[in-house]
Amino acid sequence: MQQPGLKFNKTRIAPTPSGYLHLGNVLSFVLTAGLARQSGAKILLRIDDLDRDRVKPEYIQDIFDTLNFLEIPWDEGPRNAEEYRKEWSQMHRLELYQDALKKLEQGGHLFACTCSRAQLQQYGNVYPGTCLHKNLPLNTPDSNLRLITDGSEIVVNTLSGKQIAMLPAEMNYFVVRKKDGLPAYQLASVVDDIYFGVDLVVRGLDLWPSTLAQLQLAAKLGNNAFADSTFFHHPLLMAPDGQKLSKSAGDTSIKYLREQGKSPADIYTIIANLFGKTQRVNNWSQFSELLPTSDV
Ligand SMILES: [Zn+2]
Repeated sequence: MQQPGLKFNKTRIAPTPSGYLHLGNVLSFVLTAGLARQSGAKILLRIDDLDRDRVKPEYIQDIFDTLNFLEIPWDEGPRNAEEYRKEWSQMHRLELYQDALKKLEQGGHLFACTCSRAQLQQYGNVYPGTCLHKNLPLNTPDSNLRLITDGSEIVVNTLSGKQIAMLPAEMNYFVVRKKDGLPAYQLASVVDDIYFGVDLVVRGLDLWPSTLAQLQLAAKLGNNAFADSTFFHHPLLMAPDGQKLSKSAGDTSIKYLREQGKSPADIYTIIANLFGKTQRVNNWSQFSELLPTSDV
C-alpha cells in the first residue's frame, strides 16, 4: 500500500555474487521491496560483480534462484544469468567508472598508493595517509588510487529526517580504484546509482560508513542527485548465538534451507523469529509490514 508523502522513483537490490545469499541478504531485499511498494519506487536488480576473484557463476545463478523462490519482485535489470552476462554486468559500465575517475583526477582529488598488503595490514583499520604526499604519478604500476577525503560535514537524508555526520576514520582516503585497475566498490556503487537514477538506498547498518564515504565521493564528483537520495539503514540480522550472519555461514544460506525442504513461508518465518516476532509469515509483503521502516 502506498503511503502518502512517501514518494521515490527507484531503489535497488544489489547483491554481490561472492557467496550464496543468506537470511541477512533476504532481510535487506524484503525491506527494499516493502519500501518500494510504499513509496511507488521501481526496483532495480544490480549485481555488484567487480570483485573478479570472488565472483562465481554458481553465485550469480543463486541470486536468481533465491529471488524467484522467495517471489521477491524486481522491475528492472537482468531476469536471468544470461541477460546479466550480456547486458547488466558492471564490466559493461567500465567506461562510466573511468569517466568518474577522470573527473576526480582533474579535480585533484586522487593520489596513488603503493603500500603493500602487509603494510596495509599493519595500519589496521585506519589508513594513515602514508602515500598522500609522495606525489606518485596516478599511472604508477601496481598502485591503488585513493580519494583525498576531508573532515567536512556530510548531510544524509534518512527516512526520519536529515542526519549530519563526519567520515569515520576507517574511511580516510578510501580506495576508489584497485591495483587490478578495476574501480572499487564505493566508486562503482555511486556511479551506478547516479546512472540508473536511484533515489532510495536501503542497506544494513554496517554500511553506514560506506554511505558517508559515497556521499563525500559524490560531492567531489560534483553530483547533487546522489546527495539528494534518501538512505534507510536497517538493523542487521544476528544469528541466534548473537553472531553476525556471514556468507560463509552455510546453514543460513537460502540454498541450504531450500535443499532442506523449507518453503518460502518457513524462511520468512525464520527471519521474523530472529527479530523476536512469533507469528508465521507467508510472503515478502506480509514480512515487510512486520518491521519498522524508520532509521534506528
Ligand atoms: Zn599507501
